[in-house]
Amino acid sequence: MPLRLRLTVLNALVIASAICLLGAFTYLIEARSLAEELDESLRSQGRILVNIYQVRAGLSPRTRERILPQPNVFAGPSFHVQVIDPDGEIMDRSAELGARRLPVKEQTLLRAGDNEQVFETVRLEGQNVRLLTVPLVAEEEFLGYIQVARSLETIEDALEFLARSLLGVGAVLLVLTLAVSWALAVVSLSPIGRITQAAREVTRSGRLDRRLPPPRSRDEIGRLAETFNRMMDRLEGAFAAQRRFIADASHELRTPLTTVRGNLELLRRQDAVSDPAMREALTDVIDEAQRMSRLVERLLALARADAGQQLSRTAVRIDEIVRTVHREVQPLAQQVAVRIDRIAAIQVMGDPDALKQLLLILVENGIKYTPAAGEVTIGLALESRDVVLSVTDTGCGISPEDIPRLFERFFRAATARSSGGTGLGLAIAQWIVEEHGGAIHVTSQLGAGSTFAVRLPGRLVVAAPAASERAVREIVPTS
Ligand code: ADP
Repeated sequence: MPLRLRLTVLNALVIASAICLLGAFTYLIEARSLAEELDESLRSQGRILVNIYQVRAGLSPRTRERILPQPNVFAGPSFHVQVIDPDGEIMDRSAELGARRLPVKEQTLLRAGDNEQVFETVRLEGQNVRLLTVPLVAEEEFLGYIQVARSLETIEDALEFLARSLLGVGAVLLVLTLAVSWALAVVSLSPIGRITQAAREVTRSGRLDRRLPPPRSRDEIGRLAETFNRMMDRLEGAFAAQRRFIADASHELRTPLTTVRGNLELLRRQDAVSDPAMREALTDVIDEAQRMSRLVERLLALARADAGQQLSRTAVRIDEIVRTVHREVQPLAQQVAVRIDRIAAIQVMGDPDALKQLLLILVENGIKYTPAAGEVTIGLALESRDVVLSVTDTGCGISPEDIPRLFERFFRAATARSSGGTGLGLAIAQWIVEEHGGAIHVTSQLGAGSTFAVRLPGRLVVAAPAASERAVREIVPTS
């Protein structure tokens, strides 16, 4: 679950619990105060009635009828009065009760007989009624009981209204809290989103010069952004130092290596070593020195690439580069035939040296990984306004699980460990292709051969065909 959702849910839970608690508290307090109020009204009504009956008991029957009211006077639509004799029989009751009777329980009468005010909640024709039973004692004579009752309907209605109101207000508050919490979480976490985005961009592009805008606040997020920027400074510095070190080391190694190779070649040419075993050792040393030179050259090229070396952009006749490379690799390809398949006079915008290096890497690999009597074919064609430069060989091929790793630095397939390669050629090739805004694609079948296809897009120019370049007309669209 995303953090902002978690924060919102957590906030909502806390607020919802607070609203519930507050609502329940308000409801209970109100319910209790209404109940107490009702009981108090019943109590005072009971007191008045008892007093009246006490006075009434002391009068002659005639006067009683004339001056003192019946229980009806104290009754009302929701107020009922009932008088019970000591045996529990109903003597009198207010008129609005009609045929109804307030329930008389033996237990209640017993407790009231002990001079206790007994409160009960009873059902009277489908309604809840609060009932007070008090003893009626006049001039030390126990005359019976008085029951005063009041319907709970008004209180129940009031409490229901209160509950509905609390629920409504609570729901509105909850929705508001959710909205505000969500907005707050989004606003406060958006800088973290920007930091994640920046870190992702660094991972994707490998560019270490990416920084976050200076934080506006000195809070945790501001400090995180500051720490991120400081970490990137350190990383960039460390990488730059490492690149400089590799570039310097490669550069420094070039001259002594050239001297070593020159002297070894001299020894070989002059037949200075006559013992066959020593000559073999000399050849091995020369091969290793050559490999080391290649390694140093490639390390230097990659160090410059990492340092952000910009390639030049000029109109380059790529077909001429193909011909030059084809010519230059002939001495290497003693047992493998290198030939040009399709070729058109095509110009691209690019760096001539880098493009030549790219093609050399691919063709030399083709030769290196193709056994005797095999073939390496270079092709150059236009495909939907892209230039496609391909090198196909009939060599050992590459296993499918190795293909995704081919362009990694120092990667060499198990079959190529004894080839004397450096594992850096294709990494340089990929860098050159990407610098030209292109893509490199490999198709291969183990034991049958491989094709490396380089697609260079965009602003290419098709050169005007010279008399000797009839092939151009075959490839360039006629429109
Ligand atoms: P290396 O100097 O080892 O050739 P590269 O970076 O040029 O380094 O190539 C990396 C690996 O890719 C090689 O070691 C080899 O295993 C494989 N590879 C490259 N080109 C070919 C090819 N044409 N046929 C078969 N395998 C190849």
